[in-house]
Amino acid sequence: MSFTKPDLDVIVVGAGFAGLYMLHRLRRQGLTAKILESADGVGGTWYWNRYPGARCDILSVDYSYSFDKELQTDWQWSERYAKQSEILEYLNHVADRFDLRRDIRFETRVAQAAWDDAASLWRIATEDGETLTCRHYVMATGCLSVPKDNEFDGIEAFGGEVYSTGRWPHHAVDFAGKRVGVIGTGSSGIQAIPEIAKQAKSVTVFQRTPNFSIPARHGPVADERIAAFRKDPEAYRQAARYSKLGVPGPVAMEQTKTVSDEERRRRYEHVWRTGELQPMFAQFADTLFDKAANDTMVAFMHEKIREIVDDPETAEALCPTDHPIASKRPCLDDGYYATFNLPHVSLVDLRRDPIRGIAATGVETAGGLHEFDVIVLATGFDAMTGAVVRVDIRGRDGLSLKEKWADGPQTYMGLMTAGFPNLFLITGPGSPSVLSNMAVSIEQHVEMIDDLLADMKARGREVVEPSAIAEEVWTRYNDDAGNLTLHVTANSWYMGANVPGKPRRFLPFIGGVDSYRRACDDLKAADWMGLHFRGKGETRPDDRIVRPFRPDVTAMLEAMAEAGLPPLHTLPPADLRATMAAVGEQSPKGPEVGEVRDGTFPGADGAPLRWRLYRPDTPGPHPLTLYFHGGGWVIGSEVSDDAFCRDLCVRSNSLIVSCDYRHAPEARFPAAVEDALAALDWVAKEAQALGGAPGKLAVAGWSAGGNLAAVAAQHARDHGGPALSGQLLITPVTDSDFSRPSYVENAAGPVLTRELMDYFWDHYVDPADRQDPRVAPIRATSLAGLPPAMVVVSQFDPLRDEGIAYAEAMKAAGVPVTLLVGRGHMHTSYSAVDVILSGAEMRAQMAQALDGFFEPRRHAAE
Ligand code: FAD
Ligand code: NAP
Repeated sequence: MSFTKPDLDVIVVGAGFAGLYMLHRLRRQGLTAKILESADGVGGTWYWNRYPGARCDILSVDYSYSFDKELQTDWQWSERYAKQSEILEYLNHVADRFDLRRDIRFETRVAQAAWDDAASLWRIATEDGETLTCRHYVMATGCLSVPKDNEFDGIEAFGGEVYSTGRWPHHAVDFAGKRVGVIGTGSSGIQAIPEIAKQAKSVTVFQRTPNFSIPARHGPVADERIAAFRKDPEAYRQAARYSKLGVPGPVAMEQTKTVSDEERRRRYEHVWRTGELQPMFAQFADTLFDKAANDTMVAFMHEKIREIVDDPETAEALCPTDHPIASKRPCLDDGYYATFNLPHVSLVDLRRDPIRGIAATGVETAGGLHEFDVIVLATGFDAMTGAVVRVDIRGRDGLSLKEKWADGPQTYMGLMTAGFPNLFLITGPGSPSVLSNMAVSIEQHVEMIDDLLADMKARGREVVEPSAIAEEVWTRYNDDAGNLTLHVTANSWYMGANVPGKPRRFLPFIGGVDSYRRACDDLKAADWMGLHFRGKGETRPDDRIVRPFRPDVTAMLEAMAEAGLPPLHTLPPADLRATMAAVGEQSPKGPEVGEVRDGTFPGADGAPLRWRLYRPDTPGPHPLTLYFHGGGWVIGSEVSDDAFCRDLCVRSNSLIVSCDYRHAPEARFPAAVEDALAALDWVAKEAQALGGAPGKLAVAGWSAGGNLAAVAAQHARDHGGPALSGQLLITPVTDSDFSRPSYVENAAGPVLTRELMDYFWDHYVDPADRQDPRVAPIRATSLAGLPPAMVVVSQFDPLRDEGIAYAEAMKAAGVPVTLLVGRGHMHTSYSAVDVILSGAEMRAQMAQALDGFFEPRRHAAE
């Protein structure tokens, strides 16, 4: 391997928002760099998309660079949402102001790029046959820069004019007196249609999928917004960088169902009136995650469309019904729906009347020929990957990027991809990118690349590449994040679904600009975690993982870190109980059940203990599960896992009776066990009176409660009953051996730490008693003859390995056992109903296990 001197340190492809800033930064640190750009001017998106009505849909004050103090105070936007011409003027101003043009080669399309591993450089070939070499290669080629290929037969035979919104001519197009057909009703179509209708003789809109749009309310820049920005530009920008969407604003915490219909309506009206997209996501935390919640906003939008559009049939056709709101990019418009009230504007619903092809005189649908002088294609882009794979990029050993991504892109942080050293993608798939204010996301990536290259230069590192495992885990993290949302249910360009043959994959990272940025901060702070380096005299492999947990687990941990809770093991029990109760108060309440009843039963010492029963909203009698709450034998009560019990009740269609027990340190071992056995005794006797079906009784518990459930099952086996149908042990304590790998690996948590477990053990049971099977059920003389079990563990839990060990030991003793290992989950994942959404699939399996305990024959038949 050698490090041959290339023509340039860096070649950047593309002179849009991203490429311009990248060049500026690279030059500032003394690297030689050039931009290659296929257009004859700067601007990228704003160079190509000159169709009438084209504007940004993020307020201009936000959709602009923040890297230069003077630039951002000198430049004044004339409107809330600048027109394309003004944004293009701005980008030209930036190019001039920072003297960028001397290093931009226009009208130069990059066709191929090949990594030469022996020389450690890229060979970049342009379409006109020239080859340049560089050490680093940056694709600033844009996420929405390649219009989709034509999909209509016969278009070449059309005798009139054809325009594509994404490749609009530089001269003004005159629509006056002309019959115009517009195909496509995404953001581009929705912006263009009202403007074209102002001039044309007639406009026919061909709509395959109706879209959600709210009025943009164009006008001057809002005083309060500009005042907030001017007051402290840096604080304003920093708030944007650590916001969900790259725009400063509040974050939704409430769930849609928790407010009254009137309040919900008031908030949706507010969204409609603001003329901004961001507030749409800032009303309720579940809009993007819960179909029922989303439906309420959909219904509101349908009302608005029906109010505006006069013709009821047209109004219905314009109401989107096939995708949740915001699962495709919602639009901002200027009189879009009202345009359909004009006598010369009509809508063709392609779902009923599909396009057959294009003829010499117009568009042919199943219903007949629509004659036009002009056809406008607003059919969108081969988004996010299109511009990248159109260049024949070959990495190490001739690996083709297009082939590597045949089943969907794999990247490390949306920025790099394994097998392609020194290649950088700006706002690539796997980063927030198109789900954000892209000015913010572009600046972040540019600065990260620039910092990395500066650091490499300083340390004599010449080659960088992500590790395969780091990339694999991040790609899965990206998929996990997408799969939590309603986005994956829609046929959108985010999913690649708009391009025939493109693999279906959620492309951008939806965890938020803030969360993504924190991951990047962590990666950088840990000396570029996950990146392999090579240099003169140095090789640094690195397989560390930046985000090992599920995205929603990460989000919960971030929220907890923000709340600034003290380390739990440092709190006296009374304070710990108060803290956890306060956290519980703020947590989602779980689903409605048919009935909730409270009562008491006699504890082992004769004093009453409380129970809470959850009954499904279905005819009984129901199988009954006795449940023990978690909390390390120290905290919690019969209601502390309320949401979890509700969820299990609804999912399993069974009665859940959560019984309390005495807690340590006031009542030490074996008080909790004795109370658990008293609860079992009582429930068995009262089962029928409580509405339980005869012979269908199981035990369940989470954490310390799982420990009690396991001990209760052993006790029932050894002391003549009651007969149990099964045991559901959720991240249970099964042993007092702290040397298993999971204890060591997860000693620092998350949430459940080694120190906290020590605290629980010390409060509950003397060291001399810790081998007792009533606290370490794995140490029972025999595990044979126990009821069927499901043991659920989490990957990142000190208790993982003892749960697995107990499951295996029971299996070895002949007990039917299902072991469920939650990938990317932590100890508290499953009880966090409606917070850790990915816990739902685990809870569904737990409920299924309960059903299997009670209906073994039915399950065996399945
Ligand atoms: P681009 O601006 O797309 O620039 C990429 C450049 O690379 C292009 O000039 C292209 O010609 C060049 N190029 C590509 N391949 C090659 C090659 N092989 N060889 C040479 N040159 C090549 N985002 C927002 O955040 N807010 C908005 O309001 C907003 N409005 C939008 C409106 C429209 C109509 C569109 C299409 C997109 C909008 N976007 C918006 C997204 C927008 O693309 C980004 O905000 C931003 O402009 C992207 O900048 P970029 O430099 O990454 O890419
Ligand atoms: P788009 O959102 O993908 O919309 C394309 C439209 O064309 C859709 O209605 C699509 O229908 C339709 N279409 C595609 N192929 C078709 C076919 N073969 N037959 C019939 N109809 C077909 O593309 P876009 O409007 O150009 O917007 C892309 C993105 O660019 C936006 O989501 C946004 O991020 C950005 N943008 C922003 C603004 C802004 O306001 N600032 C403006 C324009 C663009 P289906 O939905 O059924 O596929």
